[in-house]
Amino acid sequence: MTMRTVGYAWHSRFYDHHVEGHPEHAGRLRAVMERLTESGELSKLHALGVGPATFDELCELHTPDYVTRVHSISEHGGGTLDGDTYLVRESFEAAALAAGAAMRCASAVMSNNVQRAIALVRPPGHHAFADHGEGFCLFNNVAFAAHIATDGVRSSDVMWSASARRSHAQQRPRAMIVDFDVHHGNGTQSIFEDDPSVLFLSLHQFGRIYPGSGGAEEMGHGAGRGATINVPMPAGAGDALYARAFDEIVAPAARRFAPDVMIVSAGFDGHWRDPLAQVQLSLHGQTHMVQSLSALSDELCGGRMVCVLEGGYDLEVLSLGVLNMVRVLRGVDDECEDPLGPAPRPESKDGRWIDAVRRVHGFGG
Ligand SMILES: [Zn+2]
Repeated sequence: MTMRTVGYAWHSRFYDHHVEGHPEHAGRLRAVMERLTESGELSKLHALGVGPATFDELCELHTPDYVTRVHSISEHGGGTLDGDTYLVRESFEAAALAAGAAMRCASAVMSNNVQRAIALVRPPGHHAFADHGEGFCLFNNVAFAAHIATDGVRSSDVMWSASARRSHAQQRPRAMIVDFDVHHGNGTQSIFEDDPSVLFLSLHQFGRIYPGSGGAEEMGHGAGRGATINVPMPAGAGDALYARAFDEIVAPAARRFAPDVMIVSAGFDGHWRDPLAQVQLSLHGQTHMVQSLSALSDELCGGRMVCVLEGGYDLEVLSLGVLNMVRVLRGVDDECEDPLGPAPRPESKDGRWIDAVRRVHGFGG
């Protein structure tokens, strides 16, 4: 097994965005960093410097009105965007740093400074639209990673390699985002739904769960039609159904699209013990998805892969899930830690929605 150079982007200011008692609190990321430190895994990663996305950079994907609003609410001591989504005085800076961290990871990978990178960030981002944030999210971190990967590395970030620069001049690179957070990545979908250079694929619990969107028939618009793939999963779906979705949809979609980089919206709230959803993945099942994406990135993208942290509200699951993920990124595929085991209840075998997605997108007849 080849060991790979893996970068990580993190900033202590991510902890300053915090409200006691809210499920998306600073202890989530602390648990991740403690686990990575205690296991010795963090010392095997390459630390990438992180600076905040500038106002102009944030406005490349968000409207100036929205960026100004987030800044203004923070500056006035905090507030809320909706019933779920809080801001404190430090939130603008934390969110701008989270976007900056995702950009830094994409930039480092696309310029071949590291083979893979992980943005260990919060607040999460995949529910952030161009003109508003919701669902705990302020700015869309993973979208900034895809934006940088497809539209060019910032001058602040060392050099593009000569070959990367050449290929970029010839053709805009293509990014595939796979979002396995249990909630539909509605914000990311909206940002890229008419963009044929970014394939957005989301697997998520569907039905009576936030945000309610993400049906199989939502497949993009205009030039981007077909470059949005939604894989709705029933409550109770587990390792077997997700593995089937990967075999029958994710892998053929990746091969058909042939991305230059694999970008992952990595949420760990699909685990059976997570308090916010009813999908029943195990840590093994979650790690298997990461292994599949890693193999696809080796097959199709020269191994280029960027992971961006999203949700996950059981701290043991979240921290172990990230630990397992980092090991897969490095090339250690045989050390999945799963002390919690499989779901205590039987998993749903209802694959009707997988069949529907295959029909809509023409995978396997
Ligand atoms: Zn989520």
